[in-house]
Parts: sequence; structure tokens; C-alpha cells
Amino acid sequence: MNPWIAKAVVLAASVVMVVIRAPYGSRSRRVKVVTDRKGRLEVILLSLAMLGFFIPLIWIASPLFSFADYPLRLVPLVMGVVCFFLGLWLFHRSHVDLGDNWSITLQVREQHRLVTGGVYRRIRHPMYTALFLYSIGQLLVLPNWVAGPSYLVTFGILYALRVRAEERMMLEAFGSDYATYMGRTRRLVPGVW
Ligand code: SAH
Repeated sequence: MNPWIAKAVVLAASVVMVVIRAPYGSRSRRVKVVTDRKGRLEVILLSLAMLGFFIPLIWIASPLFSFADYPLRLVPLVMGVVCFFLGLWLFHRSHVDLGDNWSITLQVREQHRLVTGGVYRRIRHPMYTALFLYSIGQLLVLPNWVAGPSYLVTFGILYALRVRAEERMMLEAFGSDYATYMGRTRRLVPGVW
């Protein structure tokens, strides 16, 4: 199949992701931060994930990674598009449910409210589930050994090194409410993990 199909799908998914996030980015700058855990590790992890997000765009726009291209096939393309749809839907829903409580990094904001409803009812990290679905979509759709897995690898590292620190911060901020919430939810997959 023509690799331009993969390029069009990856570009469209990236644009949708940026469009979903943009209004929350500007809203979050207006709400005062009361606890900030954006240490050196967070800066490195965020930069790494950003790089992983942009490498596919470099693959679309230049021949830099063409040495690692392989043929595009229909079945992974269709499965990848399904992952993109699910991931982007969940990304949108988790932003709507978190509202002004969202931060790109580890922060607690003024009048921060613990969200336990909507897509947060059964899992504590639906936005991370969404980003995993999105990055698996990218792996399936993008026929290149470097650009295909780039976001899955970099976001996977960010998740692995951040999730415990985030839950510790939430426990300090919300005490027994968060402990109870942890007791009845899973991290990423409802009822499983
Ligand atoms: N880990 C969550 C949120 C990612 S955004 C998810 O995957 O859906 C990260 C910020 O969201 C954290 O710094 C914290 O301030 C905030 N946050 C995380 N879980 C929250 C919750 N249940 N209610 C309110 N804010 C939350």
C-alpha cells in the first residue's frame, strides 16, 4: 500500500491530538499552582516524550528515517486507525472530566478537586491509557522501525517513571479520599491493571 496513506493518517491524528489539548493548555496557565513537583527528571521525561511525538512528523516531512521503512499492510493500518480513534476519544473525555485540574506535569492547583467520575470512575489514569492507545496506533499505522515505536517508547518511559510520584503527590494532597479511590480503581485498564 502507498505509504502516503500512513502519512495522512498519522498527520491527521497528531493534529487532532494538538487541537484537543490546546484549550486546556491555555486554561491551565490561568489557574494558580500550589504544589509543583516539576523536578529535573520531569523536565527530561517531558522533553523525551515531546521528541517521541515529533519524530513521526519528521518521518512525514523528510527522508531522514527512510532507511528504516518497511511496506505498509492493510490489517495493521486498520487496527492502528481503531486505536487512534479510541485513544483520541479517551484523550478528549479525560480532558473534559479533569477540566481545570489538568497539568502537563506533576502539579496541584488552587481549588484542585479530586475527579473520580466520568472516565475516572474505574481507572485512575485514563489520559495515560489514551496516550498508550494513541502510541500503539502510531506503531501499527506507521511503517518505519524508528518513527513507528518512537512515541510508545518515550511515553512508556515517562509513564513508568512518573506514575508512582503522581500517586504519592495525590495522596499527600487528598489523603484518605485518594486512598479510598485507589482502593476501588485500577491504573490503566478497568478491572485488570
Ligand atoms: N494521570 C491522570 C492525569 C494526567 S494529567 C490520567 O492519566 O488521567 C496529570 C495531572 O492531573 C497531575 O499532576 C494531577 O494534578 C492531576 N490529576 C491526576 N489524577 C487526578 C484526579 N483523579 N483528579 C484530579 N486531578 C488529577
